[in-house]
Amino acid sequence: MVRASGALTLKLFDHHIHTERSDGTVSLAERARTVDVRPHGVSDHFPWPGKMRDDDDVLRYLDDAARLGLRVGLEYDIGVAPELRATTRESLHYVIGALHQLEVDGVWIPFDEAGAFLKGKVAAFSERERFGDDALARRIRERMLDVVRQSFERDGIDILGHGTMSPLAALGDPERVYPAEWQQQLIQLCLDADVAIEVNEAYGVPHREFLERAQRMGARFSVGSDTHGPLRPLDKTAAMIQAASLAHERFLAGERVRAAR
Ligand SMILES: [Zn+2]
Ligand SMILES: [Zn+2]
Repeated sequence: MVRASGALTLKLFDHHIHTERSDGTVSLAERARTVDVRPHGVSDHFPWPGKMRDDDDVLRYLDDAARLGLRVGLEYDIGVAPELRATTRESLHYVIGALHQLEVDGVWIPFDEAGAFLKGKVAAFSERERFGDDALARRIRERMLDVVRQSFERDGIDILGHGTMSPLAALGDPERVYPAEWQQQLIQLCLDADVAIEVNEAYGVPHREFLERAQRMGARFSVGSDTHGPLRPLDKTAAMIQAASLAHERFLAGERVRAAR
């Protein structure tokens, strides 16, 4: 049972918001006007063709957004993004790391269709049968941990964005496709690197049991609407936070707390 007031009163900082500086439809100036509705930053994709190509593009984005009074992050594409200079990363207020594709035994697996399905944008997931294969699912889980671990070591990630979004999540029951032991390994990677775990409104991940495990293990959290258009209420997020009884004090507030390395 979720109280209707949850969504209205949720004033946690929303770190994950796109603009037209990558694939969003809203300008930086318009984003700066909605921080009064609820506190939020901007975090466009890096890399993004023609827009976010290198350190210079990122630093220009940071300057333009910060001048408007916005907190500025990035959604860094784990496993494929070129390495940024440490000074560039540290000058941002935070860096979200997120997986959107995964190389498994020489084959690139895009997460797009699974993501669209989880967002409710397509009615069915066409590759259900392929990803229902136990051996492939196990390799995907192993590779997710490898790639996330490598990125945490190299890329100065502060927040793991939509951490359990993948073709496996699109199969349904997350407690079956992600065994508890695997969940604990992913959470432990976040703890070891002091990376917050995002509660993602758009995909509705991670699921309740994952969030409960993460809280028991001592994780930090972060709100991410992952909106590409107008700012909407965080209904799903409020319900997820309430269902898992996550303490608001464990959420990031628009800046990194992780010590720079
Ligand atoms: Zn993403
Ligand atoms: Zn995003």
